[in-house]
Amino acid sequence: MRRKLVVGNWKMNGSLASNASLLSGISEGLAGTTGSGAACAVCVPAPYLAQCQALLSGSQVGYGAQDVSCHAAGAFTGEVAASMLVDFACQYVIVGHSERRAMHAESSALVAKKALAALDAGLTPIACVGETLAEREAEQTYVVVRNQLEAVLALVGDRVAQIVVAYEPVWAIGTGKTATPEMAQEVHARLRAQIAEKNPVECSAVQILYGGSMKPDNAVELMAQPDIDGGLIGGAALKAADFLAIIRAGK
Ligand code: PEP
Repeated sequence: MRRKLVVGNWKMNGSLASNASLLSGISEGLAGTTGSGAACAVCVPAPYLAQCQALLSGSQVGYGAQDVSCHAAGAFTGEVAASMLVDFACQYVIVGHSERRAMHAESSALVAKKALAALDAGLTPIACVGETLAEREAEQTYVVVRNQLEAVLALVGDRVAQIVVAYEPVWAIGTGKTATPEMAQEVHARLRAQIAEKNPVECSAVQILYGGSMKPDNAVELMAQPDIDGGLIGGAALKAADFLAIIRAGK
């Protein structure tokens, strides 16, 4: 059985002081609960990775970044290489978040290269896919997410069990609108079936997270679905009590 995984996406939020209090709130809340809820991690702005390394090493809370360059090194001003994330002992990196696809014009081909760079460096890429409201209304959801995932699958090949996939309907991110558990399950099942086409054995090991206004009050129902293996959490990851409640929901 796949253990649930709950990952906080802090986006561009935080400060040294507020992070310290959030991380200690999460760590204290998890003390003495080894293995009883979901595994968890936080994906933080890159400047705070050193703080995570100092505060979270050896704890139950994993950590990682929100983006990575597809390049190894060189003249790429502003970019951060996968090897640099490894220098700070990151385990995870989000690739292809819809905010980066929309605001930084990231194509699925680029997202796939980022996933591969992460994998090659020993990181676990969390590859995001998801449709916009217009695409859902035009009944294009499965076409869109299939194409987004296909790009990643083509590059990661038989290492698919080493990636995490996150289904994040764009219309549900930060809006308070959540896909119903049934809607989300249907997409997750399709994504797993797609993975199974080329990787019939590994597909059952791949964690597929749901993201989009997951909160303590809907997390249990969402994570009870057979193909929903956890959550990628934005707003609710910024409050220790809410994040902890979602972790506990992932029993
Ligand atoms: C996200 O940014 O990945 C996300 C799911 O945000 P929220 O939980 O706030 O909708």
